[in-house]
Amino acid sequence: MKNKLVIGNWKMNLSFEEANDLIIAIGDALEGFHTNSEVVLSPSFVYLELATDLAEEYNFSIAAQNCSEYENGAYTGEISASMLAALKVNFCIVGHSERRKYFHETNETIAKKVDLLHKQQLIPIVCCGETMEERKNNEHFKIVEQQLVESLFHLNKEMFGHVIIAYEPVWAIGTGETATPEQAQEMHAFIRSLIEKKYGAETAYNAYILYGGSCNAKNALNLFMQPDIDGGLIGGASLKTSEFIAIIEAADSAAKDN
Ligand code: PEP
Repeated sequence: MKNKLVIGNWKMNLSFEEANDLIIAIGDALEGFHTNSEVVLSPSFVYLELATDLAEEYNFSIAAQNCSEYENGAYTGEISASMLAALKVNFCIVGHSERRKYFHETNETIAKKVDLLHKQQLIPIVCCGETMEERKNNEHFKIVEQQLVESLFHLNKEMFGHVIIAYEPVWAIGTGETATPEQAQEMHAFIRSLIEKKYGAETAYNAYILYGGSCNAKNALNLFMQPDIDGGLIGGASLKTSEFIAIIEAADSAAKDN
């Protein structure tokens, strides 16, 4: 049995007090029950120190939402992978579709970030996914393959084992329009087959492929029960304690049943 992984992406939300209260509420609610699922919270940069301090008392890990493609130097406003490592951050999201769209992040820059994160022993959570137009044109498999090949497949087998993939169809993010379990499973199976071709069956089995895009307390269980869905990257629903906890409960029971 493989544990499920649930990551809460808080994006650019919450005041300091709200972030503090949400971390504590989630930490308290998780005490003792999520034995078959792992939880990661991803607050904004300015709350990372608060979050990593509190994470020591609780049963979850912390992810940043981005890092610089540069190692250090004159890049005003940037945050390096080594700065995240110094804060005891464990994971970092890269290539989120909002960053691809608004901040021109490309597969090439994502590959650089992956390497810099690995250098600091951080685990990249690499997002991929197609737009609705690409899906309508039946290009979704080709697009996702290109994203993965160009951002991740330069890694050797060992380093590929230190990566998490999040399939997030752009049309499902923040829209309330979730991929059906069948649509998500089809793409996850395709991603796993690409990994198998490149790195072999064992690496493909062990790879974590999360689904993201309007996942909530109602639809999480059906998604997580799919054989190739190893958990979720959760945006809006991770900002409400009860909703997020219900999603973790769904992950926990899906892990037991799989
Ligand atoms: C996300 O931003 O990674 C995400 C999945 O958002 P939402 O759950 O709000 O669609």
